[in-house]
Amino acid sequence: MPDCLFCKIVAGDIPGSIVHRDEHLLAFKDINPQAPLHVLIVPRRHIASLNDLGPEDDDLVGEMVRRAAAIAREHGCADSGYRTVFNCNADAGQTVFHIHLHVLGGRRLSWPPG
Ligand code: AMP
Ligand code: ZN
Repeated sequence: MPDCLFCKIVAGDIPGSIVHRDEHLLAFKDINPQAPLHVLIVPRRHIASLNDLGPEDDDLVGEMVRRAAAIAREHGCADSGYRTVFNCNADAGQTVFHIHLHVLGGRRLSWPPG
């Protein structure tokens, strides 16, 4: 998707602080971190929002969630705790319309979210 920020990071046209890459996924540090650990996990393929997922994406989403757990473990947050978030559309504050799983950890996170 030509005008998509995260497609550009996937393509290497915009720099990202990459923490993981594989055949289907890229994970990079959020540019405006909200916790000591704040990583975004994105599929290489452009999918605008959760509303655009189909059954053919079930494996992909499973990989994203399991990668979040692996990244949390690598950063020492697996036992202390961490949060994963998909924001979808305006009321949730989605600003980049290429699905991304936030992984937040390294501090106490309040609930409910704002
Ligand atoms: P959301 O509000 O769920 O759409 O999250 C988008 C996230 O992307 C925000 O947390 C931003 O800080 C982050 N972000 C925006 N631009 C970049 C960038 N160039 N590199 C890394 N993260 C970014
Ligand atoms: Zn995209």
